Amino acid sequence: MPDSPASGSLADALLAGNRRALARAITLIESTRPDHRRDAEDLLAEVLPRTGNSVRLGISGVPGVGKSTFIEAFGGHLIAQGHKVAVLAIDPTSRRTGGSILGDKTRMEQLARSPEAFIRPSPTGGSLGGVARRTREAMLACEAAGFDVAIVETVGVGQSETAVADMVDLFLLLLLPSGGDELQGIKKGVVEIADLVAVNKADGEMTDAAARAAAEYQSALRMLRPANAAWQVPVLRCSSLTGQGIPEIWRAVGDYRTAIGEAGLAKRRAEQARAWLWSEIDDTLRERFRRHPAVAAALPEAERAVMAGETTPGLAAEELLRAFGVAPAEA
Ligand code: GDP
Repeated sequence: MPDSPASGSLADALLAGNRRALARAITLIESTRPDHRRDAEDLLAEVLPRTGNSVRLGISGVPGVGKSTFIEAFGGHLIAQGHKVAVLAIDPTSRRTGGSILGDKTRMEQLARSPEAFIRPSPTGGSLGGVARRTREAMLACEAAGFDVAIVETVGVGQSETAVADMVDLFLLLLLPSGGDELQGIKKGVVEIADLVAVNKADGEMTDAAARAAAEYQSALRMLRPANAAWQVPVLRCSSLTGQGIPEIWRAVGDYRTAIGEAGLAKRRAEQARAWLWSEIDDTLRERFRRHPAVAAALPEAERAVMAGETTPGLAAEELLRAFGVAPAEA
C-alpha cells in the first residue's frame, strides 16, 4: 500500500533529508525479500516526483588510477560550493571474489565524515543487472533526500561501465599519465562511451607524461565519431592530490550540460528510463520462468539434451515455454 504508515513516514523522513532514513531506504532497496521489494517500490513511487534534480555523474578508471582520491577531492570542492554529494558504487568484482576492489580499504575518509556527503558502497550479490538496478534506485533515493550531485563510481574492468553510462547524465573516465589503452588495461569501447576524460596524477614527476598522454588521447578521440554532435569530448588533466584541475572538471560538467541542453538531457534520461523498463521486464520474466515449477522440473533435462546435441535450442526453448504457459507463435 503506497500510503501505509511505514512507507509514509519513511518517505517523509527521506524527503526531509534525514540521513538515517536514506540509509534505511537504500537497505530496503537492496533487500531481496519480496515484502521489502514491495515496500521499496511503494517508497520510490511516492518520492518519484521529488527525484531527478541532481547532476548524475559516472566515474570510472582502472584500479589505482585514483578514483577514491579523485572523488574525495572533487566531492570536497563541490561541497565547498554548497552542493550535497552522494557517492554510490558499482563493483562487479564483489560478487565474483566475495571481496571487492572498491570496498577492501577505507576510502574517501574525509568525504565520509562530511554531513553534506553520503557514501554507499556497492550492493553485493546478484548479477550486474541486479546491482545496476539497485544502484539506480538508490540514486533516486539520494535525490529525494536532497543530494544534488550523484556520483556513481565503478571500477574500470569492462561491462559495468556501460551499466553506469546508462544511468548517468555524463560519464567521466579517469586515465593514468601513461599512454595506450592496452597499457592501462582499459577495455575497448570504454573510451568511446566517455563524455569527459581526465588524466589524473598530473603532478610532480608525472606532469610532463600527463600532458603527453592527454594530447595523445585528445587526438585519438578526435578520430571517433562523437556520440553527440554538440559535444567534443575534452581530455583534461588533474591532480587529486594537489587539487589542481579539479575545478576545471566540474566546469566541464557544466559545459557538457549546457552543450546538450535541457532537451538533450531530458532525452537521454527518457531513453534510459525506457531501457530500464525493458530490463525490469526481462529480469522479471526470466526469474518467473526459471521459478515456474513445471519449467524448473524440465530445465535440467532440456539443458542436458541441448548440450548433448540431441535437440535444438529452439525446440527445447519452445517446449519449456509451453510448460510455462506460452503457446508457440502462430505461423
Ligand atoms: P582507486 O583504486 O582508483 O580508487 O585509486 P586510489 O584513489 O586508491 O589511488 C591509488 C594510489 O594513487 C594511491 O596511493 C593514491 O594516493 C595515489 N593517487 C591518487 N591520485 C593521485 C594524484 O593525483 N597524484 C598522485 N601523485 N598520486 C595519486
